Parts: sequence; C-alpha cells; structure tokens
Amino acid sequence: MSPIRSVAVLGGGISGLSTAYYLVRALPHDVPITIYESSKRLGGYIQSTQLALPGLDPTTGEGNVLFEHGPRTLRVSKRVSSVNTFDLIRRLNLIDELIVVPKRSAAAKNRYIFYNGKINMIPYSVASILKFYFSQPLFRGMLPEVLREPFRRNRPQAVVEANDESIGSFMTRRFGSRITERLISGAIHGIYAGDINQLSIKSILEYLWKREKTWGSVVPLWRRREAPVSRESENPYAERHNEHLKELLEHNKEFMASLKDASIVSFRHGMQSLVDRLQEEILSSGNVTIRYEDPVRHLENVVDGITVTSAKEVRTYSHVFSALPSRKLAELTEPPLAECLRKIPSVSVNVVNLFFSKPRLLPVTGFGYLLPKAVPREDNPERALGVVFDSDAVSRDHGQGVIPGSFQDSVDGTKLTVMLGGHWWNHEKPVKEPDEAIVLAKQLIARQVGVNESPALTQATFQESCIPQYVVGHHANLRAIHKAVLAQFNGKLILTGASFLGVSVNDCIYYARVAVEDAVDHSGKGISGLESKALYDY
Ligand SMILES: Cc1cc2nc3c(=O)[nH]c(=O)nc-3n(C[C@H](O)[C@H](O)[C@H](O)COP(=O)(O)OP(=O)(O)OC[C@H]3O[C@@H](n4cnc5c(N)ncnc54)[C@H](O)[C@@H]3O)c2cc1C
Repeated sequence: MSPIRSVAVLGGGISGLSTAYYLVRALPHDVPITIYESSKRLGGYIQSTQLALPGLDPTTGEGNVLFEHGPRTLRVSKRVSSVNTFDLIRRLNLIDELIVVPKRSAAAKNRYIFYNGKINMIPYSVASILKFYFSQPLFRGMLPEVLREPFRRNRPQAVVEANDESIGSFMTRRFGSRITERLISGAIHGIYAGDINQLSIKSILEYLWKREKTWGSVVPLWRRREAPVSRESENPYAERHNEHLKELLEHNKEFMASLKDASIVSFRHGMQSLVDRLQEEILSSGNVTIRYEDPVRHLENVVDGITVTSAKEVRTYSHVFSALPSRKLAELTEPPLAECLRKIPSVSVNVVNLFFSKPRLLPVTGFGYLLPKAVPREDNPERALGVVFDSDAVSRDHGQGVIPGSFQDSVDGTKLTVMLGGHWWNHEKPVKEPDEAIVLAKQLIARQVGVNESPALTQATFQESCIPQYVVGHHANLRAIHKAVLAQFNGKLILTGASFLGVSVNDCIYYARVAVEDAVDHSGKGISGLESKALYDY
C-alpha cells in the first residue's frame, strides 16, 4: 500500500481533533488533512456554555455560570492514556487553565450512592470502611460476600466457552447480588449510563476478567500472590504502551509531579478549552482544512485510496481516519463491516444543568451521587443515573483544596448536573424536551437532597445515542470489525473514536495517537486502528 499522501478525518469530536493533531505532528507539512464535520461546531459531545444570571450582561463576565453539556472532568492516573492527555494539555499551553482537584479534597473523597431513601457515602480509606460499614444500610451484609470471594467456584464452563460475560453476572458470581446491584451498577451508571446485565466484563473491567482467569478469584489470597496475573503480558501492545508511558513521564516530569496528589481536573473555561486550543493548533499548521456542515454520506474503496462522498463534494484521499460513532460509520459503509458496526449499541442521556443563587444548599459536600439499579422505581421515577455537585467538584474554591483563584463561575452558588435516562430509556420513551427534563431534575433533587429553591439558571441537553455500550461480545465484534475493515478498505480506512477501545476523553485522545503512529509507521502494510485490542485474546 502507498504511503500517506492525503488524509480525510471524519468527525470533529475530541477523537477527530486528536487524530488531526497527531497527524499534523507525524506527517510532512505538504500532506493535506481535511476534517469533515456534519455540524456547525467542533467538539462533538464536549460542549461548555457560559450563561449570565438573569438581568446581567454576559459580556461583562459578572454573574457568569459555566454549564457542561457533556464531559466535565478528566481523570488523573498513572495510566498511559491519562498521562498522554496531560502531555497534550502541556503542549497546548493549557496548564494555567486547569482546575486541579486534589485527592484529599471533599470533592475527590466524598462520593455517594443513593440507597434506601438516602445518600450514603462510599468509603475512601480502610478506616472509613469500618466507620461506614456499620453505620450505613447500603453496606449491610457486604463484608461476608467480599471475604467469601476467593473461595467461590472458578469460572463455569459456559462462561469459558462464551469467552465473555456481563458485568452483572460476573460480579454476582464473585460477590453476590448486594455489591453488584447496590454499588457496581451505580458506578457503571456513572460512566456508561448502561445496564450491568448487558455490558461486558471482558471489555470494561478487563483487569478483573483476567484476574479470575489466572487466579481463580478477584480478591488475592496470600498463597496466590506469587501467581502471575496475566494482565497485559500477552498483549503485543503492552510493551508499546509502557514505552509511551516512560517517555511521557520523562517529558512531563515536573508537570506530572505537580499532579501527584490530583484526582481529577477540569478547565476554568470548561472542557471546550481543550477543543478550542486543539482547533487553533491544528489550523496553525497550514495544511488542515475544516469542512463544517458537510456530513459524509458514503465511502468507497478505489485503487488509489478512498473516495469520500459528502453533502457538498466527492473527493479521493489516500487514507481516511474515521472518528465517527460506529452507528454513523455503518451508514457510510457496506456489509459485513456495516453489520459489525451496527452491533455496537448506544444509549441517550438528558443532561440537566441547574444553578441556584444560594451557595451550599446541599446537605453534604462531595463529587455527587449515583443511583444504582437496586433503587426501586418508586424512588426513582425520573429514571436518573446520578447527580454531580458541580459547585463542590470543579467550580470554586470552597476550602476543599481546589487551587485558589481558579474557578468556572464568577458568582457563588450551588451548581448541579442531573443525568437522566441511559439504559432506562431502552424500554421507555426518552425525555427529550428540555422543559420536561428540567421539571424531572428539580423534582428529583427536591425529594432526594431537599433542594426546593427555584434555580436561577437551567439548561437541558438531550444527548442522543451519546455513550457507546460495550456489550457482551464486544471484544469478539472488535476482532470482526478489524478483519472486515482491512478486507474492505485494504488498510486505508483507520478507525478511532469512543465506539471501540474506550469511552473516556483520555482513551479517545490516546487511541487516536496510537492509530496515527501505527498508520504512519506501517503505511506500507495498512492497519485498522483497532490492533491494540483486536490482535490478541485474553
Ligand atoms: C453526558 C456525557 C458525559 C460524559 N462525561 C465524561 C467525563 O466526565 N469524562 C470523560 O473522560 N468522558 C466523559 N464522557 C465520554 C466522552 O465525552 C465521549 O466518549 C467523547 O467525547 C466522544 O468523543 P468522540 O470524538 O469519539 O465522539 P463524538 O463526540 O460523538 O464526535 C463525533 C463527531 O462526528 C460528527 N459527525 C457525525 N456524523 C458525521 C458525518 N456523517 N460526517 C461528518 N461528521 C459527522 C458529530 O457531529 C461529532 O462532532 C461523557 C459523555 C457524555 C455523553
């Protein structure tokens, strides 16, 4: 296959922008790069808006409140995808924009689960486990389940043969239904808005899946400690990720040291800052064109590349990087690839932002609370997944360790985000109308945390099919997509985006980087972009 001579990047979300950014860095500057975006703006689900309190002029900056329509924080960890994001943040000169939430702050430590009609704190240390275990009904009966785990039967034959299992079934086998339905399902609602009985343990909690396979249990017994955990050992990409990590840590020594005690970060002007700076940086290269409001309609493999038919023109590129959601890419391609892409479902969420002029309205401080599956319908008729306490989490310094002087709102108050829907709407009519969603969100927080005031500012955004669901069989499907895309496009169509290897912003950025590097290194051979997961089984 010929080297990269011209590139189309499909989709201007964080995956598409990161792909374009790494392409600019990796390719000679005479290689033209064209980004196709169907809407008027870049960022996809990342979108931050500044609203002024009623009666105030938004241009003065007084009384401004920032609302996030999608993601609001980035996780800080030692994982390569996280360190890579901070490398990008440094390169984009965004360090001064960061709001850093330290691990010791209430916003990082205090996370809650709604259960039995009240919010219960999740333990954050050994001492807190003892304290909360006996005082909170949520944890009743859980300790014996954890202690029994190493002695439970190993993986049943049916699961071995299926080579995957739902998170719900795996966790219930290992820990019983209390932990699964009260804790795990809540955590999964917070990230995937998904159903633990459909999502794949192998794709989402790979580490636990491998632990059981190697050790026969998830909780290590002393006698098993010596046994090797298979983890990444058989993954040909493990070494590559380690090399990346070493190199990233070396280049970002000081910055990463300053984040040693950080739990999560956001930006003073919201997540949109990341999108805006990426856009500026990409455009400053001189070889990138952005085609707004030009949805791609069809892709065709031709001798010298791929012909892209969009709403406004037909053009052939030597290579195409798709950063579209899989269901959108399915519309542009033929079977068998299109069929495999359609097997990745997604869920919709209504994101409701509320701002109350009165500060500290909540009975507790912390990041927020999640509603697990165990909450009966009569306690959650709104079909809420969770509530983020934004004013505690990222907005202002309330003495909880957020770096003083860095904040998102220019006025004090209580800011919350209520997430509605997700998998609950697989079987019910979704609430799309903003007014209806706002009424439901207000009703929920009045009942669950006693906030009865009228909000000064509200906003609701129906995010349709916004979170891809890695359901049971996702890994096998990835392998099928890998084969199909190579067969149908000879390694000239490369896949990135949240539908495949990870939904977090960190994963979207990192896997875009890996795909670009692979494509440039192996342009003679051709790749699918999914190699880091699709080339090995575990
Ligand atoms: C409510 C919510 C909260 C979240 N919270 C967090 C969080 O706190 N932290 C975190 O790390 N992650 C979070 N996530 C996950 C993360 O935000 C997403 O996975 C990520 O933003 C997806 O980016 P993407 O570029 O892959 O896809 P998208 O954002 O979907 O971008 C795809 C782009 O393609 C465009 N497009 C679609 N069809 C076409 C076409 N035919 N032609 C051209 N363009 C097209 C779209 O307009 C869009 O701009 C959250 C997600 C949601 C929805």
